[in-house]
Amino acid sequence: MATRPTGRGQETVEIPPERCPNGHEIGPGKVIVGYGPNPDGFRARSWLCRGCGALTWDQPD
Ligand SMILES: [Zn+2]
Repeated sequence: MATRPTGRGQETVEIPPERCPNGHEIGPGKVIVGYGPNPDGFRARSWLCRGCGALTWDQPD
């Protein structure tokens, strides 16, 4: 999960990727957002592209 300064210290915010690995735009209705163990065994958010099925993983918490 990415963080950024908010004026109240570091706050966890969700920053989804802009495109899947195959170049499809990621946005509302275009991905299925998930959360669970990634291939390395860490829990992280994931984005499943509805266009091609590519799975993009966020950094683990
Ligand atoms: Zn895609």
